[in-house]
Amino acid sequence: MKSIVLLGSTGSIGVNTLLIAKRYGFRVEAIVAGKNIELLNRQISEFNPKFVAISDIKDRDKVNHSNVFIGESGILELLELSKSETIVNALVGYVGLSPTLKAIELGKKVALANKESLVVAGEFIDISKIVPIDSEHFGLWYLMNNRPVSKLYITASGGAFRDWKIEDMKNATFKEALNHPNWSMGNKITIDSATMTNKLFELLEAKWLFNTTNIGAFIEKKSIIHALVEFKDGSTTAHFAGVDMKLPIAFALNNRVEDEILPPVDLLKMGSVEFKPITKERYPTWEIKEHLLANPHLGVVVNASNEEAIKKFEKGECNFFEMSKIVLKAYKEFENIRAKNIDDIIRIDKEVRNSI
Ligand code: NDP
Repeated sequence: MKSIVLLGSTGSIGVNTLLIAKRYGFRVEAIVAGKNIELLNRQISEFNPKFVAISDIKDRDKVNHSNVFIGESGILELLELSKSETIVNALVGYVGLSPTLKAIELGKKVALANKESLVVAGEFIDISKIVPIDSEHFGLWYLMNNRPVSKLYITASGGAFRDWKIEDMKNATFKEALNHPNWSMGNKITIDSATMTNKLFELLEAKWLFNTTNIGAFIEKKSIIHALVEFKDGSTTAHFAGVDMKLPIAFALNNRVEDEILPPVDLLKMGSVEFKPITKERYPTWEIKEHLLANPHLGVVVNASNEEAIKKFEKGECNFFEMSKIVLKAYKEFENIRAKNIDDIIRIDKEVRNSI
């Protein structure tokens, strides 16, 4: 029987992955969650995994399972014991990096939602083992064929404040930033959508996955078109699909999908589709787009400073635009840094965080 290990089972991607696993008859050998023990226990009783891991030892007694691993080292141990060929990494943030590296070292296929792994350490990751779970990269992959490509494009919804007056955005709260117009996702990626840092991350992801820096992004407010490929012959194809991660997940698990995962897009109901530029007035981190694509090893700096900035914003210690200022300041300060290996990445990540 085909089986998977699912890291981040209680999150937005994790829950959708379990639906797809059930639909295609995958055994769920192990699940990993953070703090949502109530949902984890429901998943344990439904999927009967052999191993479980959680983030905090304090919660161990609440977990209805006899084989519970704890913390980052626990996740790595769980991976070593598991027999599944596919690891779905749907953890959020930097914590996802070491499981990605471990899974690759163990020769597993990694269905990777944790984009931070590629952002931080794309240079040191064997891409041949990665299948991305991200609607834009799935869309690009879907559109690619053997014709010569001239440019790739991905789209952005624009996030929670795309229609706000820029002066009002200064006083926007964390809760308001979570009010995504189209997607229902975890908190961090929703904040990253509001600042557009998520799109910077996706450009880096695309750079590593498709080995090109010739990639652009536009705002498409309906999130119906996720990706476009421009060919050398002058034609452009676009990928239309509903706002639902089950489609990329189904392909990442199954390779081949022949049944309906989502209802087709109703073109008449959809109405007009518009593309708009991403401006640095509304999204200040967009300023580094070209430089970052030319220097993708700086992803570790952007990620560490961004994670710290989000924590500050959540605690009310900085306002919405100050998050971008924190990232841009760190980017300038660490512009000349270059990791030679994963140990350097870990060191730089710490240094950047300590500088904030
Ligand atoms: P969520 O916040 O919804 O879920 C994150 C998951 O990781 C939860 O299961 C959480 O556990 C778990 N987790 C967090 N920290 C730890 C830890 N220290 N140890 C163990 N488990 C931990 O995030 P999303 O599902 O939205 O996103 C996951 C990844 O996928 C991100 O990298 C995101 O950028 C990417 N992605 C998400 C998309 C989406 O539609 N949501 C689309 C494309 C990519 P718990 O909740 O129990 O604390």
